[in-house]
Amino acid sequence: MQFSSLRGIDRPKEIVQRAVDSGKLSHALLLLGPEGNGKLAFAAALAAYLNCKTPIEGDSCGKCPDCVKSAKLVHPDIHFILPYPGTLSDEQKSPTAEVIHEFRPKFIENPWLELEDWKHALAADNKQLGIGVNEIRLLKKRMSLKAFEGRFKVVIIWGADKMNGSAANSFLKLLEEPPDNTVLILTTIDAADLLPTIRSRCQTLLMNRIPANEIGAYLQTKYNLEEQQALQVALMAEGSMRKAQVLAEKDTQAVSEKFPAWMRLCYEAKMDEISKLAEDFSRESREFQKFFMESALHRVRETLKVRFLPEDQLLFPGAEIQFLKKFNQILTDAKLEKIATLIDEAVYHVGRNANAQMLMVSLSLRIHKVLREKITPNPILR
Ligand SMILES: [Zn+2]
Repeated sequence: MQFSSLRGIDRPKEIVQRAVDSGKLSHALLLLGPEGNGKLAFAAALAAYLNCKTPIEGDSCGKCPDCVKSAKLVHPDIHFILPYPGTLSDEQKSPTAEVIHEFRPKFIENPWLELEDWKHALAADNKQLGIGVNEIRLLKKRMSLKAFEGRFKVVIIWGADKMNGSAANSFLKLLEEPPDNTVLILTTIDAADLLPTIRSRCQTLLMNRIPANEIGAYLQTKYNLEEQQALQVALMAEGSMRKAQVLAEKDTQAVSEKFPAWMRLCYEAKMDEISKLAEDFSRESREFQKFFMESALHRVRETLKVRFLPEDQLLFPGAEIQFLKKFNQILTDAKLEKIATLIDEAVYHVGRNANAQMLMVSLSLRIHKVLREKITPNPILR
């Protein structure tokens, strides 16, 4: 993994590059930031950089024997600790060692992999992930040995907040007295979930959401999306590359066509057609239903922009812009806000397995009511 393959990490990259180059890198780093922004990949890129024999311009070379091993996640001085569903009763076994062969291809394929994806890969969607004390004990044993080949021994703890109480306490000792040339890298989305004593011994590195233009550029090359479409998906992803990937793999075309048709039906309130639409909607997968509602919400919120942005800056296909312009004419800000709230509630209920058909009928009728509401004149202008 090289820094150059990641996106939107300029600031934290500069900080660690400067620290490494001046020999002042902290022995413990806490990468803190929201899901899907590549914290784990950043940790792996830093580990590779630390062990690269011939780094170039602040990045690992990607070619030396160390880099080749780093890229395959088999470098003997780079240790991953992975959260694991359930516990292994055998004290001599490291849960990570049991599953690392499953982790490697997944992470190499997608460096923005999230813990939810990891659970799914282990067929443990409904289980809690944890890092137990035996894992940390075995890690300490390995850390007491000399570095095999690299300059640094690097430990990457993915989701460090998943350490249970005794694991965290055991890890604290390693943090207090780290062996020479050791760098411990922890990732978490919420520092409050870590022991304060662990937090205070790490240098915290904030990893923010990835800017939409960076995500958009990635989506264009990876999924062959048009520039506007890529940016539209990027905006919906709210700084998460992983969410952007999920959205890009969905059928955005279907939403583009279905949303205007749905809004027209809501306006006209043709009951038989609404029932038909609701029935079709209920046959879609839960995932699509949720995606459809989220996309609809995004469109309603974006409708406001139609008023003041030139067409080439609107991130929708041409036909849809024409629709949104017309849609906009029958809406006030207050109406838009009400419709957004209604759809937002629907997103919540779809996520909780509500009856999709009933939900769609009732939502459509409520939107109809809002669309046809009489506008009370502004009292100030009366
Ligand atoms: Zn190298």
